[in-house]
Amino acid sequence: MSFLSKIFGDANAKYIKSLQPVVDRISLLEPKFEKLSDEQLRAKTEEFRKLVANGQSLDTILPEAFAAVREAAKRTLNQRHFDVQLMGGIALHQGKIVEMKTGEGKTLVATLPVYLNALEGKSVHVVTVNDFLSRRDAIWMGQIYDALGISTGCINHAAGYVYDAGHTEKDKIRDEEGSFKIIHEFLRPVTRREAYAADITYGTNNEFGFDYLRDNMVYASEQMAQRGHNFVIVDEVDSILIDEARTPLIISAPDEDSTQLYNTFSRIVPGFIENEDYNLDEKLKAVSITEKGIEKVEKTLGVDNIYNEGDVRYVHHLEQALKSYVLFKKDRDYVIKGGEVIIVDEFTGRLMPGRRWSEGLHQAVEAKEGVKIQKESRTLATITFQNYFRLYKKISGMTGTARTSAEEFHKVFSLDVVEIPTNRPLVRNDMADRIYKNEEGKLKALVGEIREKHEKGQPVLVGTVSIEKNELLSAMLSREGVPHNLLNAKNHEKEAEIIAQAGKLGTVTIATNMAGRGVDIVLGGNPALSDEASKACEVGGLHVIGTERHEARRIDDQLRGRAGRQGDPGSSQFFVSTQDDVIRVFGGDRLHNIMNTLGVGDDDVIENKFISRAIEQAQSKIEGHNFDIRKYVLEYDDVMNKHREAVYKLRKEIISSSDVEDKVTDFVKEYIGNLVDFHTQGASYEWNIKEISESFKAMTGSDIHSELSDKAKANDREEVKSFIADKAVFLYEVKEKELGEEEMRKLERIVLIRTIDELWMNHIEAMEHLRDSVRLRAYGQRDPLVEYKIEGQKMFQQLMSSIGTQVANIIFKVSLMQQPQRVKAEERRPDIVQESHSHQQNINEPVHRPPTQTDESQENNKPKIGRNDPCWCGSKKKYKKCHGK
Ligand code: ADP
Ligand code: MG
Repeated sequence: MSFLSKIFGDANAKYIKSLQPVVDRISLLEPKFEKLSDEQLRAKTEEFRKLVANGQSLDTILPEAFAAVREAAKRTLNQRHFDVQLMGGIALHQGKIVEMKTGEGKTLVATLPVYLNALEGKSVHVVTVNDFLSRRDAIWMGQIYDALGISTGCINHAAGYVYDAGHTEKDKIRDEEGSFKIIHEFLRPVTRREAYAADITYGTNNEFGFDYLRDNMVYASEQMAQRGHNFVIVDEVDSILIDEARTPLIISAPDEDSTQLYNTFSRIVPGFIENEDYNLDEKLKAVSITEKGIEKVEKTLGVDNIYNEGDVRYVHHLEQALKSYVLFKKDRDYVIKGGEVIIVDEFTGRLMPGRRWSEGLHQAVEAKEGVKIQKESRTLATITFQNYFRLYKKISGMTGTARTSAEEFHKVFSLDVVEIPTNRPLVRNDMADRIYKNEEGKLKALVGEIREKHEKGQPVLVGTVSIEKNELLSAMLSREGVPHNLLNAKNHEKEAEIIAQAGKLGTVTIATNMAGRGVDIVLGGNPALSDEASKACEVGGLHVIGTERHEARRIDDQLRGRAGRQGDPGSSQFFVSTQDDVIRVFGGDRLHNIMNTLGVGDDDVIENKFISRAIEQAQSKIEGHNFDIRKYVLEYDDVMNKHREAVYKLRKEIISSSDVEDKVTDFVKEYIGNLVDFHTQGASYEWNIKEISESFKAMTGSDIHSELSDKAKANDREEVKSFIADKAVFLYEVKEKELGEEEMRKLERIVLIRTIDELWMNHIEAMEHLRDSVRLRAYGQRDPLVEYKIEGQKMFQQLMSSIGTQVANIIFKVSLMQQPQRVKAEERRPDIVQESHSHQQNINEPVHRPPTQTDESQENNKPKIGRNDPCWCGSKKKYKKCHGK
């Protein structure tokens, strides 16, 4: 153990040391488990389950359960969990972020805590970075779970599966090539609900998140796919909780009118001149339009003041159009494919079909590229990954690179990072950066270096930051006659097969940043022939070349980590030029000048510790800045999160209860109470009985004016209320007789759900606007977040009270409404959801809530609604045109 404490921090070493006795206990159990027959091993699961059901803690069962998993892995995969892997498994069970280097076998590590926690019978989810890996892992690890009698499900973009062991003829391929090849016969297609019903479910963060949102858009609890959020292990956790956490998940529906605006502004902004019409802050990725720019637009559009014309909307469109021109580049930030703008993930270089930039940016890019502009969308549901994952009772994660983000994991998720030592010592040689004056010199040197390694027979993996660079380098290599494979983040499955062979002698593989992530590179190829493998070792193992530094050190580490897995020989080096984006933004010009002064030629290289360190400092600055952006997104989502929780809870109550009549009639009574209170202020001769009866007629279609006038003479407000309420209840019963009880119950539920959904969507939209507008207010030296919280809270209260008002006003007219279409569970993709919600538009938006106080003294001071104010009933009409008529 002593070498450990030298390498890792004290606290970490202490923690690792504390795991050792548990590891020893698991190993001591090994002979006992080896003696069990396959059936006896499988029967262990039932035994453990009973213990758990009888109140034994998972911690007590851990050693036995881990021993069982180790044994099952030996029998199925022919792999015995290393001791360090047991340590990783314990740490995952304890809800930590586990850093284990690439190639250390994290896929296998996860089986330990997954199995242990599955014994509770609640759901265990394992998150992978793409659909391919979720299928791979479900099949690969599914064998272990199957041997233990535990079911494995898998959810993909448009499908759900469960692991099916009944295909013995393919067993050999599955076992040998299972780390990168998927044998589809081992997956049986099922509904998403069934995939979630399995003990364990593998899937991507997107799928889990979207299913959660969609589950909160269904009309009946049988349509919900997920069965709770118990324990989740996030593989490649930094990628998911950090890199992808900047954009929230959004389900949206198209909005009709803005297409024209995008085209208009897209024609105007190309004529803009930097520092005259607009300012660009590359560091902040922000543009701002100057007075002059605004004038230009006003002249072109022939309007006096664009702020007046369409208030913030015009300016917003203008800004997005400008951004699309100056900040977003084709083949770097996005590609055009099949007439669509597809986002390229800036960290992984992967294409993200289906993902759209929000707030109209995507449409602005579409306008710029002249492709069809998708209609602006209306958000139906949205959540950040941070808040999605906080739903789980326990969360843990694993990755090869967590340490540089430990602070963020701690601050945002209260998760601690633990570093597990490698099974064998790491011998990779990470060389100092090679720095060139300009890009051309760098590329030339790169090609030379790659050729040299290739001729020597050493396998080389070259990482580029974008598809554009990737193709440029590939073209140069082709010209020079260096054979190579190109990975473009286009097809994960094919990518996996290529990357799996990247360790073969003399192979050159060019890949965007993390293409093929999650797939192991075995020296000599996979499956490896032994003399090939030893030859590959002799020439130095895999050599990794980075063609540029990335914004985050973590991503660079990730690339380096491809070499030197499991004690293999290997090396890595980055090539940098002062013209690289990362360097340029942080004083690249100065560096360039210094190099000029020193007389450094275009083809000369500098390897200088001082400069390398300066680059890392620049990276750490950008990391901090990106953390701030994510924090900002999260702080705002946290406000919405409370609202979302409350609304989803209410919704869930409704869809899972068999009878919601009371809820509806309560709303009706509450509405009547508010109506009466509002119109019976002051002395009785001031009471507005006419108004009350008109509102009642509008609600129920029944005229009670003369009866009510009589009642009112007694001057008793409560009496009036209960009279009207009785009337309403009577009419409600009449309606129920007409429709039949069953139909009425159904309609109650539909009215409730639709009203909640519609108002909730409006609320989301309103909150989006609020967020934009508080940002503008920040100039007035007020903290935008505080403003957002205060006003958001008011809007939320209004939302909750509007729900009741709306329901009361709709329920009596309910037969006019169509029933919602039934949407099949596995088809609840966002686009289908859009359709099923389009018929909801007939429900009005909330505006004012009726006053609810009954305290006499307050009532007299209460401000009266002006005739031109929006009506309190939520009709969106002016008061004088509605209840004030
Ligand atoms: P990571 O996710 O940590 O990068 P993987 O889970 O992809 O690593 O595993 C890397 C390789 O190591 C795989 O080919 C896997 O089969 C192998 N491996 C993992 N654990 C063991 C073990 N205990 N014994 C033998 N091989 C193992
Ligand atoms: Mg992995």
